Amino acid sequence: MLKLSRRLQLIADYVTAGSRVADIGSDHAMLPVYLLQIDKCPSAIAGELNRGPFEAARKQGADAGLTARLTVRQGDGLNVLQPGEADTVTIAGMGGSLMCDILEAGHAAGKLDGVMELVLQPNVGEEVVRGWLLKHNWYLKSESIVEEDGKIYEVMHAVRASDAKSRNLELYDGHFLRLELQDENLFKVLKQMGPHLLRDPQPALFKKWRHEMNKLDRICEQLAASELAESALKLEQFQAEMNVIEEVLQCLPTVTP
Ligand code: SAM
Repeated sequence: MLKLSRRLQLIADYVTAGSRVADIGSDHAMLPVYLLQIDKCPSAIAGELNRGPFEAARKQGADAGLTARLTVRQGDGLNVLQPGEADTVTIAGMGGSLMCDILEAGHAAGKLDGVMELVLQPNVGEEVVRGWLLKHNWYLKSESIVEEDGKIYEVMHAVRASDAKSRNLELYDGHFLRLELQDENLFKVLKQMGPHLLRDPQPALFKKWRHEMNKLDRICEQLAASELAESALKLEQFQAEMNVIEEVLQCLPTVTP
């Protein structure tokens, strides 16, 4: 049986048992092969845009003796799916913007019809993914953050729910932070940092945001040294953003690893 990385294991854990899964951008198809091996899913589709990873996914399925239950398809994003073919869609290991492009195109083409849950792990741009889920009324049921090999990953589990809008409204109400911030700043920071991750702050969350703050600090230094008129405005925006993040970090209960 395949042994997954902690990141992929988290994703696998979110997949609802018994669901037909489609893993988009599957590369070596580690995730769907594992889900089939442990019999968590009856069948799976691995989608891949590029020839090399597509062949690698086919080989992985064949080596594991799973060709009857794993279909490997080459194509762009959710194009590889027929509407109604999958209950769960997983997309992992790519940037949040690309992930949203894939979701948006799939949504427009009806490829997400019948899909009941999304398990998403953007490498960067988590904020845009949360924005997409909100826009399309997927309820963000849970999130996790994990550090592996010096990198920090966030995994989101979103589900279809008739009351998704009201549940998301409650989830993205940042008043639990008890900060004197404007509602729009609270909403933005929850989208950036993760509404569940902020309610249950883990050491990896602090580590990630200390690192992000250092990056923002360096950008601010460069902007401060610039003589361009728009740099001053940008500097002000970045500093305001950093102040909000700092306030949030200060107010969170710290946990010992
Ligand atoms: N999902 C695996 C994981 O998390 O370990 C593999 C991640 S790998 C870094 C990203 C994969 O997405 C690559 O194999 C790439 O070929 C594939 N990919 C990129 N754009 C894609 C698209 N539009 N549709 C399908 N696959 C895509």
